[in-house]
Amino acid sequence: MDILGENILHDLLTRVEKPGRYVGGELNMIRKNPRETELSLCLAYPDTYEVGMPFQGFQELYHLVNANPHYAAERVYAPWADMEMGMREKEIPLFSLENQRPLTDFDILGFTLQYEMTYTNILNMLDLAGIPLFFRDRDEKFPLIIAGGSCAYNPEPLVSFLDLFVIGDAEDLVIPLMNTILEGKKRGWSREFLLETVAGSNPAFYVPSVWDKKPYPVRTHIVKELQPDYYPEKPLIPLIEIAHDRFALEIQRGCTEGCRFCQAGMTYRPVRERAPEDLYHQTVQTLRNTGYEEMSLLSLSTSDYTGLEPAIRKMLPVIRSCHVSVSFPSLRLDSVNPELLDAALSGKRSGLTFAPEAGTERLRRVINKNIRDKQLFDAFTLALEKGWKTVKFYFMVGLPTETLEDLDGIVRLIRTLHDMSRPYGHIHINVTLSSFIPKPATPLQWEAQADPATLQARIDHVKQKLRIPGIKVMTRDPEYTLIEGILARGDRQVGHAIYRSWLKGSRFDAWSEYFDMDRWMEAFEESGISVETYLTPFDTQTPLPWEHISPGVSRTYLLKEKEKAYREEYTQDCRDGCTGCDVCDFTGIRMRTVDSGTVRTFTKAENPLPIRSLPEQSSERYITRLEFSKTGLMRYLSHQDLFRLIHRSLNLLRLPVRFSEGFNPRPRISLGYPIPMGFEALSEFADITFNTPVTGLMEKLNSVFPPGLRILKTQDVSKDTPSVMQATCYLDYEALFPEKVHIQKIKQTLDELAGMDQWLMTRHHPKKGNKTIDLKPLVDNFTINETRQSIFVRFRVQESRTGRLDEFLHIIFKKEDLPPYEGRRLKAGLCTDETADIKV
Ligand code: SF4
Repeated sequence: MDILGENILHDLLTRVEKPGRYVGGELNMIRKNPRETELSLCLAYPDTYEVGMPFQGFQELYHLVNANPHYAAERVYAPWADMEMGMREKEIPLFSLENQRPLTDFDILGFTLQYEMTYTNILNMLDLAGIPLFFRDRDEKFPLIIAGGSCAYNPEPLVSFLDLFVIGDAEDLVIPLMNTILEGKKRGWSREFLLETVAGSNPAFYVPSVWDKKPYPVRTHIVKELQPDYYPEKPLIPLIEIAHDRFALEIQRGCTEGCRFCQAGMTYRPVRERAPEDLYHQTVQTLRNTGYEEMSLLSLSTSDYTGLEPAIRKMLPVIRSCHVSVSFPSLRLDSVNPELLDAALSGKRSGLTFAPEAGTERLRRVINKNIRDKQLFDAFTLALEKGWKTVKFYFMVGLPTETLEDLDGIVRLIRTLHDMSRPYGHIHINVTLSSFIPKPATPLQWEAQADPATLQARIDHVKQKLRIPGIKVMTRDPEYTLIEGILARGDRQVGHAIYRSWLKGSRFDAWSEYFDMDRWMEAFEESGISVETYLTPFDTQTPLPWEHISPGVSRTYLLKEKEKAYREEYTQDCRDGCTGCDVCDFTGIRMRTVDSGTVRTFTKAENPLPIRSLPEQSSERYITRLEFSKTGLMRYLSHQDLFRLIHRSLNLLRLPVRFSEGFNPRPRISLGYPIPMGFEALSEFADITFNTPVTGLMEKLNSVFPPGLRILKTQDVSKDTPSVMQATCYLDYEALFPEKVHIQKIKQTLDELAGMDQWLMTRHHPKKGNKTIDLKPLVDNFTINETRQSIFVRFRVQESRTGRLDEFLHIIFKKEDLPPYEGRRLKAGLCTDETADIKV
């Protein structure tokens, strides 16, 4: 075992833009000693930390695996280009967040396939880990590379690289799979025998190397019931800002509406609702254990959940009492009701999203989106009456049978909605136009995909006509759609192109700053792939490349639905009667809804303890000043992230933090001058205002803070005491020189500097640009410490302006003609004047 040292990491992290992506240490993180477990899995998300952290599937698997004392789960995310460059330069292999273990150290590396445009990142992560990309080149000393997720319904473009695909729900498969792998490890099975054994153990395990020799039926796995213990009550809470930073409560899985373009709507069947009591219990526990301020109800169609009203009614007091805002990411327009909107309004108001998908009712019949224009208008009016100021609408272009009339339908709808919004003040209408991709396992999987030029023309047509103040139209470059479509419906030949494109430098293809169409076109050409082949309709008589994998929904049903699309016929919601998609066996696997009584009954959740105490603002306030240190990997936490971490920790501990007044109340946490990123801070201060006195704050906070962040002292201060910021007159720093730096020469330079009138240098501000400043008046004094081989610098604070240690060092090192300073930097403390530290 080879755990990366902190110094190696430090060297690397000081060079990257967002080091917080790579340090782990999240609240509720589980860090097991690798020597004390028998088998380890590294969950690998092939995109950035910020994109991957909200993924609920990993939260569940992380919790399920770590709940087993014999097994450990850690995580890794795709390193951004700056980190990749540093790792390659310093030959540092890709490592996990929990223990900074190289990925080759794990028994299993498990990727999730959420989006086709991350495929080159999978190759890049394997390469950075020092793992051969092709499965045929890996032997027993390398981890087993597995993958699951929605894109696994067509795994063919990736079969050369991965050992095993898990098709469908993984909650009750992960431990049995790990048991088999552990048995193989103990008995010394060859990789080949192990994979054969795994393939034979469940039809949801697709092992291409075994299947190619002897095809066997592969079928999606469906959990019969969403068990409460699948869900962590202590989910990981990120330290840095991420997308969708909130508690996501899965209320049901599956969707019965049958939209013909929607892969998730087909592959997550049948609907399995969770009991309202169960949701309530999880909400109480999770809010108690996380300190989240926002939650969302996770489902493909939230308002279809038949237990929504009782669930919301039960949860509302809890949600309101702790100022948590609820978002409903997928509301159906015909079922928006005032109670739901009220629930969403109980906290911070987020945007409301509706997805009519097509501009005319005719085209909505083609795609089986059963929404009338009137329902859209009614729902919009209700949202306006409830005070929403931003409403989003999703549409697709390039749908089968689409005409100019359908595109104009989008324009007409949005203009009507815009007119309706006038009496309600300044309303933002955001329209997203995405391009249709015929995804595998859907009734439209055989359809043609419009080429980028056609899509662009259609997008322009709509955009042009919606150039109206208050309406914002967002689109995606149709070139992405082309590549995404080929990867989605690709065969094994496409795997060659993925490899070639990666060799040419493709990674982060979903990111506009990295996507390069030319690289892909060259890769297709070199792989003998004609792009046009993937745009024309697929023959229904010929098996599609992915059809040896059953998504549960039968081919006959998909074909029948395709024909109904052309007849513009609706298929009813299968809650109103089975429409024969063949997923259910009507014994174990069947629709489970609250109103049909098929959902388990739960023993009544115990009377919950208060989640967090947010009493009415009392007339009294109690301020505690904290002295803390921020060292180790926590030195990479930004000022803003530190604020969030302290706030979440106080929430988690249910401490009565006081909030500011006004429309957007903020917790009263007051930090000092920001600690520069990468600096260790030995003595920092923060003031926290509470509504009631708090005892044992230091012990409480230290019990939840990640390693590296420590409260050293606390002291109650009077409300007339100047804040940390106001009280600070000086900031102290120390820089420890690397051995190669000649301390006597530094001394000479400092003497020369002391004789100069000004120390001019350029300060860069990201928004205001460059500015010349004189650093000399901002430096109060400095001393060299030969024993420590360091320099101590005290900066003055003048009208909130102060000097920066790096600027000071830059002047010395530039004069000495030395490369930029790279040593250890400490923020040693701050003082109210030369003699009196503000220490608590
Ligand atoms: S088999 Fe029938 S009830 Fe079950 S998901 Fe399919 S359409 Fe719905």
